[in-house]
Amino acid sequence: LLGVGVLVEDITQRRLAEEERERLYREAREAIRVRDDFLSIASHELKTPLTPLSLRLATLERRLERGESVDPTTLRHARQHLLRMTGLINDLLDASRIEAGRLALHPQATRLDSLVEHVLQAMEAQRGGHELRYERPERDVQVFADPYRLEQVVTNLVENAFKYSPDGGVIHIKLETRGELALLSVKDPGIGIPEDQQKLLFERYFRARNVSSRSYGGLGLGLYISRDIVERHGGRIWVESQVGEGSTFHVALPLLTGAPSHPPAPQPER
Ligand code: ADP
Repeated sequence: LLGVGVLVEDITQRRLAEEERERLYREAREAIRVRDDFLSIASHELKTPLTPLSLRLATLERRLERGESVDPTTLRHARQHLLRMTGLINDLLDASRIEAGRLALHPQATRLDSLVEHVLQAMEAQRGGHELRYERPERDVQVFADPYRLEQVVTNLVENAFKYSPDGGVIHIKLETRGELALLSVKDPGIGIPEDQQKLLFERYFRARNVSSRSYGGLGLGLYISRDIVERHGGRIWVESQVGEGSTFHVALPLLTGAPSHPPAPQPER
């Protein structure tokens, strides 16, 4: 009997071991699939700007060879495609820095009202048919933050507002203070986000099911990076949205009142 008991135990354990092995295989296969999907999306996204860039450079070359003048629009378009690629590569680098815990912050006293204004001016060239309306705060808004990283957050939110709303749409940007907080909102009249997906938007690589990669390019990294930056400044980022109506992204950051209440920890180099 003892012998049978040992045998049964042995078999059960072996089966468990097999089940465990099977589970590990399944997880490994899934991880490989996710990585392969991501590699193919990332390569496609990185390759997309190359064809128009190459065409524009060929046009410039031809014109110069013929001794014709160079059209600044062609150059500007070429530069936009380069900027798009640079942005994608920077997002990939930032995401891997976050994963490794090495995204550096260099915080300093920062005027958030001027920073937003500056970002919106810099984005004029990108806005296409969209209209930007900025509701300024009544007084200066100071935060203790890395200005470069905050610009990245604001840029990402406004770029998404352009990308996911139709031409001619009005984007409302509002900055105000409430209590100890600076509140920034970016509101668009775009496609919106299904309710069950709203919590997942800030996860790495996540793209909502109502955006097909054919009509809207992207890697699903911008909001993941933005959330990391905002939270490491002691802030919060969230969204309110309705499909077909539009979305409003909100960012709350602690105001700089005397000594910073949430000083970001010292950081390794960027
Ligand atoms: P990407 O735009 O490259 O996909 P993000 O991390 O910036 O990456 O956004 C993640 C997802 O969130 C998008 O794929 C889209 O599904 C959704 N999203 C973000 N901003 C908006 C917006 N303004 N309107 C509708 N959907 C949005």
